[in-house]
Amino acid sequence: EIEVRGLHKSFGDNEVLRGIDLEIGQGEVVCVIGPSGSGKSTLLRCVNLLEEPTKGQVFVGGTEVTDPDVDIDAVRRRIGMVFQQFNLFPHLNVTENLTLPQRRVLGRDKATAACVAAENLARVGLSEKADAYPSSLSGGQQQRVAIARALAMGPEVMLFDEPTSALDPELVGDVLAVMRRLAQEGMTMMVVTHEMTFAREVADRVVFMDGGVIVEDGSPARVIGDPQHERTRHFLSRLL
Ligand code: ATP
Ligand code: MG
Repeated sequence: EIEVRGLHKSFGDNEVLRGIDLEIGQGEVVCVIGPSGSGKSTLLRCVNLLEEPTKGQVFVGGTEVTDPDVDIDAVRRRIGMVFQQFNLFPHLNVTENLTLPQRRVLGRDKATAACVAAENLARVGLSEKADAYPSSLSGGQQQRVAIARALAMGPEVMLFDEPTSALDPELVGDVLAVMRRLAQEGMTMMVVTHEMTFAREVADRVVFMDGGVIVEDGSPARVIGDPQHERTRHFLSRLL
């Protein structure tokens, strides 16, 4: 579903991605771990073209998104993204947060958008907050709304960039539970996270990045449980 081939990204002289090759199959969940500055966010952002790769190719669902002739908006519609900061529209209530992008980007009519919004709010366990404003919600609830908003667009794949890093510890579990359910439903997911328990239990594969390259790529049991490289061991030891 997602394929990255020979991906390089530089910002000026700073080569942040130095040749990334990665395949994520349909329904697969891949967690990306690695130290700060290793290029994790840049990699995610290259997948949905928030950053333009310097070199290499990215395919999503068989379409080459790095093809210069590609319709970027059409590509982005197929890719849901959830950030550390939830980025909800503060002046809109929860339902409106979910319906606005459906209407603007997908051209859905009001009734259809509202129906899809309700379905996806139920999916993240927040039906009772349909009329609430973001400021009245906890961080965890806001992040679940952000996930529902992305899902309401009907994406083929979901990208998560440290979705729980801005949350108080007691709110992390609810968000991870929603993501775990999404994984069980068969969503293709690429998740940058420091939550090793989630990676161990939910990921099909774990990718360890350092210095703009993939150092290890394998099952959670292998990469987290029995790392082959000193750099991975060092990184993991500092998390414990
Ligand atoms: P973190 O764990 O802190 O989120 P990360 O692995 O996500 O780190 P990136 O955000 O991908 O790392 O950043 C990798 C490198 O790229 C860093 O050195 C960063 O300063 C640089 N970088 C990222 N975005 C830009 C940008 N828009 N312009 C210039 N440099 C950038
Ligand atoms: Mg990052």
